[in-house]
Amino acid sequence: MATTKKAAKKASTKKQNVYYFGAGTCDGDGSMKALLGGKGANLAEMSSIGIPVPAGFTITTDVCTYYNDNAKKYPKTLDAEIEENITKVEKAMGKKFGDLENPLLLSVRSGARESMPGMMDTILNLGINDKVVEALSKKTGNPKFAWDSYRRFLQMYGSVVMEVEAEAGEHHDPYEVILDAAKAKAKVKDDSGLNEKALRGVVAEFKALIKKRSGKNFPEDPREQLKGAVSAVFNSWQNDRATVYRQKYGIPAAWGTAVNVQAMVFGNTGKTSGTGVAFTRDPATGENVFYGEYLIDAQGEDVVAGVRTPKPIAKMAKDLPKSHKELLAIRTKLEKHFRDVQDVEFTIEEGKLWMLQTRNGKRTGFAAVNIALDMVKEKLIKKEEAILRIPADDLSHLLAPIFDTKAEKAAKKVGNGLPAGPGAASGKIYFSAEDSVKAAAKGEKVILVRQATSPEDLRGMIAADGILTTEGGASSHAALVARQMGKVCVCGAHGMTIDYSKKTLVGNGVTLKEGDELSLNGFVGNVYKGGIKSSPSQVIQGLIENKPAAKRSATYKKFMELMSWTDKLRRLGIRTNSDTPEQVRQAIKFGAEGIGLTRAEHMFFEGDRITYMREMILAPTEAARKAALKKLLPFQRKDFNGLFKAMEGRPVTIRFLDPPLHEFLPHDDASRRSLAEHLNVAPEVISERVHALHEENPMLGHRGCRLGISYPAVTATQVEAILEAAAEVQAKGTKVLPEIMVPLVAYARELELQKQVIDDTAAEVRKKLGLKKNQLKYTVGTMMEIPRACLTAAEVAKHAEFFSFGTNDLTQTGLGLSRDDSSSFLPTYQDAEVLNNNPFSALDQEGVGQLVEMGVKGGRETKPKLKIGICGEHGGDPDSVKFFHRAGLNYVSCSPFRIPVARLAAAQAALEEKGMARSEMS
Ligand code: PEP
Ligand code: MG
Repeated sequence: MATTKKAAKKASTKKQNVYYFGAGTCDGDGSMKALLGGKGANLAEMSSIGIPVPAGFTITTDVCTYYNDNAKKYPKTLDAEIEENITKVEKAMGKKFGDLENPLLLSVRSGARESMPGMMDTILNLGINDKVVEALSKKTGNPKFAWDSYRRFLQMYGSVVMEVEAEAGEHHDPYEVILDAAKAKAKVKDDSGLNEKALRGVVAEFKALIKKRSGKNFPEDPREQLKGAVSAVFNSWQNDRATVYRQKYGIPAAWGTAVNVQAMVFGNTGKTSGTGVAFTRDPATGENVFYGEYLIDAQGEDVVAGVRTPKPIAKMAKDLPKSHKELLAIRTKLEKHFRDVQDVEFTIEEGKLWMLQTRNGKRTGFAAVNIALDMVKEKLIKKEEAILRIPADDLSHLLAPIFDTKAEKAAKKVGNGLPAGPGAASGKIYFSAEDSVKAAAKGEKVILVRQATSPEDLRGMIAADGILTTEGGASSHAALVARQMGKVCVCGAHGMTIDYSKKTLVGNGVTLKEGDELSLNGFVGNVYKGGIKSSPSQVIQGLIENKPAAKRSATYKKFMELMSWTDKLRRLGIRTNSDTPEQVRQAIKFGAEGIGLTRAEHMFFEGDRITYMREMILAPTEAARKAALKKLLPFQRKDFNGLFKAMEGRPVTIRFLDPPLHEFLPHDDASRRSLAEHLNVAPEVISERVHALHEENPMLGHRGCRLGISYPAVTATQVEAILEAAAEVQAKGTKVLPEIMVPLVAYARELELQKQVIDDTAAEVRKKLGLKKNQLKYTVGTMMEIPRACLTAAEVAKHAEFFSFGTNDLTQTGLGLSRDDSSSFLPTYQDAEVLNNNPFSALDQEGVGQLVEMGVKGGRETKPKLKIGICGEHGGDPDSVKFFHRAGLNYVSCSPFRIPVARLAAAQAALEEKGMARSEMS
């Protein structure tokens, strides 16, 4: 690495805006992703390890920020720095920018800290004009190539910089229309079939199109072209698709993008040239095979755009044997150096191989686990690194359903494509992103069907359950994006045809219309008519259903091995939010070490049990309430008994009934009538009670401990049920550890009052059962879900043996944001970048996080060893789990299926605490 140079640069006070790379030297290195972007940093790194990289330079992300903050102006020294670097590139490549003998052409590409595939703009073949094209033609002796490069440049520059694109209502790209006409005239299928004369005609038409639509001449001066291109790339950081992408992946707008300006090398000079993309291992399955595709006589975008169908990389051994061999050697070198799967782009110009990009390859959850564990075996990485490399959320891919084998066999296959995103999905067909978004908003399961996707389709892809394309390869936009989102995707189903105007999809003689059901098997690439019954993943079959065949599968084995590693590293305990013995048994298999939350009221959602709850809630007198509670008691006792048994001695936190009234009152006539029948009263009586109890803000109303304080019998009955069940289970030899939790406490006094009721009732139960204090134990704690409780935690802790943060309500009350009503405007807030994430999914660490920290601090001031957990939905969100680790909590509690994610995130948090950074997935 160019360390001496770097040190000298650091010592200088002048801010460096441009970093050179190429021909074995570089100003930057792979660690500088924040400043140089992922692409720029890795180009520098590749140069430094002697991999052939066309020379170039990176304009930093700081310049992007400066540009955005200063009304699109640049730092004063930038022009001079760019000139200086152009000279270096000219020297390294032996060509001159704008020269009329041996011209250098440049590519201009974006490159953010984290890769955002296809979201920002790129301009290739820059530096060409009417004179340069002739020079290029003469120099290479290949006029067809020169004119092809010129038409490509006009097409990109025209649309990206001069903004001449398809207009509203115009269905086809106007450049493609011109090209298609030229191909039809020349009677050729591919762009590469056009000869010099035809290409000259296309260039003239492109120029006329640009002039006509923009009113401006296309700039002939290469330096002016470069300026326009650099600004266009910086501007594209703010475009709609980049903004949507940033929101989805929580990438801050402040990061900005770098711009990489690099010497062009040409894959389109004839049969000894080509271009391709490859992964050093299969990014869908993780298998250790070189996986990629290439095209002869083409430029990079042809591969990704799916205009021509590329060949699998193995075929290169025959077409271009020398380059193939070199590429295999580079594959090994890159994996050894970066110690991770690389996603590379390369070009072969007249038999010389150039690497244009390398980055850590995006992969599915399956591949992430397989690769990480394989690399540990291969001694490329340590277990700890393997753990840090698997995005915790991606573990959910391994738990996703697969099709029922029998049902799949019986289904009518209508097509087959590349298995680009594993998993099984059935849904209704929609042919546009917009229609998909609308249908998903109505709650439909959607399969987005497109010839090929482009970044404009992003919203539709997010909304869809599965994505099908009829064109494009394994590295097409659809494949890359679906893989990253963990969406089921089949791409390049060539035998199928789409008619957008009729909204039909035809395959294997079957015509499907918009709204018809379709199923995709993203593991093998099959497409079926109709919906197909799905069945649990191999992990679920092995773990939950105990099926031997599934247990023998590699996925199951690797999943289990990974989980065992995480348990040795994490400090956080992992509990589950579960309300039934069935859920609890699953949760234990997923690794739950206790129950962090049983919502007692949820036990009453089942069957006609809600009637008893309603009877209790609507009771007009104390006596009526007591009578209703008596009916609830046996149900509760039985349920708690089931939970205690299923937990086999692990701690069980039971939270008192916390029924926000709107969730429990009978809303419609039918349910009121049936309740009236059950209670043997007139329906009007029920209506009156419902009316009397009506609350405008039930979430902030008579719920939680407020109920128990108004009606101590409600609390007492539940304590009876819990302790009687505990005694029953204990008597049969199973240890029981009930933790009684009081919800919605704001004042220490509330908890004090409830604890009194609990202790008094416990004394009665013990007396009734003839048990001593140490023979029937329990602890009392509180939910921390109201800001006041967090602010006064030291006081609250006087009456609590544990705290559990209820971050759902703490978010609701901390942000003054309704849990039930905010979804209508949260997307607007995310669009406006007020919020990066939904605060009910990912904890608002800066705001609500402070309340959590205060609660921990106050609680432990009073009781240094106070046990503290969290049981809001955030307990299964990786970033939030890491926050809870740092905040010093003892455990997180989440739904059973999120437990593996929480275990992994907790292990990652422990490693990060030791200073190990997550390897950047760029
Ligand atoms: C919470 O508020 O975070 C919580 C776990 O309780 P509930 O969601 O039942 O209000
Ligand atoms: Mg709550």
